[in-house]
Formats: sequence, structure tokens, C-alpha cells
Amino acid sequence: MTDNTYQICKTCVMDSSMPGTVFNQDGICNNCTEFPIKAAQHWRPNAEGAARLDKMLARIKSLGEGKDYDCILGLSGGVDSSYLAFKVREWGLRPLVLHVDAGWNTELAVANIRQVVEANGYDLVTEVVNWETMKDLQRAYLRSGVPNQDVPQDHVFIASLFHYARKYRIRAIISGHNFATESTPMRWQHPAMDRINLRDIHRAYGKSPLRDYRTVSALELFFLSPAVRQIKFYHPLNLIPYDKEDAVKFLESQGWRKYERKHGESIFTRLFQDYILPKKFGIDKRRAHLTSLIHSGSLTRERALSLLEVPPFDDSQIRREIEFFCRKIEISIEEFDRLMKENPRSHKDFANWDRYLALLQPLKNFFLHIRG
Ligand SMILES: [Zn+2]
Repeated sequence: MTDNTYQICKTCVMDSSMPGTVFNQDGICNNCTEFPIKAAQHWRPNAEGAARLDKMLARIKSLGEGKDYDCILGLSGGVDSSYLAFKVREWGLRPLVLHVDAGWNTELAVANIRQVVEANGYDLVTEVVNWETMKDLQRAYLRSGVPNQDVPQDHVFIASLFHYARKYRIRAIISGHNFATESTPMRWQHPAMDRINLRDIHRAYGKSPLRDYRTVSALELFFLSPAVRQIKFYHPLNLIPYDKEDAVKFLESQGWRKYERKHGESIFTRLFQDYILPKKFGIDKRRAHLTSLIHSGSLTRERALSLLEVPPFDDSQIRREIEFFCRKIEISIEEFDRLMKENPRSHKDFANWDRYLALLQPLKNFFLHIRG
């Protein structure tokens, strides 16, 4: 949504609605000035990337010797993870494919997951999150008024990856996260992996215990898994040229079907990003997404500005989605509409991991030091 009160960057489409966006004297934002520095660290769609990819694949294969799988791959049915699933077979890896069903899959996502798994002959584990717990957690987040409403889905997704990695003694988690389309940080977004925050929000607004809902602690995430168990994330899409439109074309040739809208694989993520975020929090996440595409050269600023002219949601269509959502999590539409009008609250209004991470930092530094 365009709001004249916000300052907009001269070279991308980010504006001051996104907390943490600052501008230099030329009117250029920190996302633009920081991009080349971060790109040099993370993004190698070139010959150097190809050489690094070879090394990465050799390492993952050697870690998996004598085991059923050499890596684990989370599959949502979206473009990135589906495309990666095909690349992984092309690279000769032997993944365990994990899908976490948190209750919001679209029918098309389910069909696409089946297609990707069958086309590649993979073993698939589907982790179905207890719906009563999920529903309670989603209601708690909605009533708490914090901006990152996608935590209930995102946390259990990553926690499940760690769980199955340990269960099958897998040391490589292959992630479809990529710099080409996701380089712009979501500065408004408190990390989904903060279990202290998740538990406190649930304690304040939830009704039933967090049963059959996998979580992961900060100690596990930042220390035990990477340092002791040697389980690590790998981001191979950063080492190859990756263009989303080309990826979609390739996937379509393999029987996968395209989503009409971004995040077409999750009913909730779509409602969250298209409606709840702009309506309640004044944040149009498309700005971050389009800015990433401008930076990676997939889109011009003019084209991005024209895409932003279209409102993030269609009034008549969104009401039907809201009704579906309210029925599914069992709250009234009146309450939902009232919550949308209430003032947002901060994740920091609840217990969180900030102080704990500060304590953990010396441990991480010490370990990195002794490993040389
Ligand atoms: Zn900018």
C-alpha cells in the first residue's frame, strides 16, 4: 500500500514503514547500501560458486556414507523447495524429504508435493502437527497482537527438521533459502525460533498445553546442533544462478503446477502477508520481496512500483478467506475484525531470548576459538 507519509528509497522500493530502514543523504536506503557487502559474502552464482558447490556436495556425500540418507530437505510444495528437490537428485544426493503439515496446506500444495516426491522417487515423511494445539497457538498469537503471526508454522517446521536429522543421524539440512529472491532482511520480524517468546505468548493467551508440537531451544539451535552434533544448514541455491521464473517453467515441465499468488501453498501465510500485516501493522511485505528482486537484477524499480500499485488484497475475495480462517481456528469474525483494529504489540512485551543469547555468545565464541 502506498502511503505518502513514508519516505521511499530512490533506488529500490523499500520505505520507512519497515522498521530499521534508514536513508543516507542521497535518499538511498540501508538495504541498498548493504546489499553489495552481503552479496559478496553469500551470493556466488558464478564459477566460484560452481567450485564451492562441488565441494559442498562432496562433503555432504561423505557425511552420509553408510547411512540411509545423506541430507534432509524440507518440502513445502512452494517454488524454492520444489526446485531444490529436483536439483538435489541431479546432484546425486540421497535426501530424506520432510513435509510439515500445520493444517494450512492448499490442495494444490498437496498435489505438488506428491508430484515432486514421485517424480524423484524420494522417501517422504509427513509430520502432521496436532491441530488442537496448532489452533490454540494461532489464536494465542492473533490475540497477543505481535507482528510475526507466522511463528507457529515456522517454528515447528525448523524444529521438525532438527528432530528428523537427529533421528536418522543426518548432518546436512538442505535449505531453499536463497539470496537471489530473499536478500532483504525482515527487520520487523522477531525470529520464529525464539522458543522463550513462543511459550510466553502461548502462556498468556493459550488455553491448552503445547501437546505434540515440536520446539527447539536456543541452546540446541546455536550450540548443540552446529557445534556438538555437527548438524548444519546448507544453502546451495546461493551457488548457482537462480531465477524464479525459470524455476517455475522447469517445474511445470515436470508436472508441478503454478500458484496464482505468492505463498499459494499456505492458506494462512497468504492471509497473513496479504491482509493481516498491511491492515494491522502497516507493513506491505511485497516491498521487501520486490526489493530483493531489484537487487538481484530480476526486476526493474519501475516494474516493482507498478506491481505495488495493485492493493495487496481484493476486498470481496479476502472476506471469504477471513471467514474460512475464523471458522477453522474457531474465533468469531467480530473478534477478528476487532483484533485487526487494536494497537499492535511488540514481541519484546513478552519474555524473549535476547538476554539468553547474550549469555550464549561467549560459549559460541569459545567453541569457535578452540576449533581454530
Ligand atoms: Zn533502497
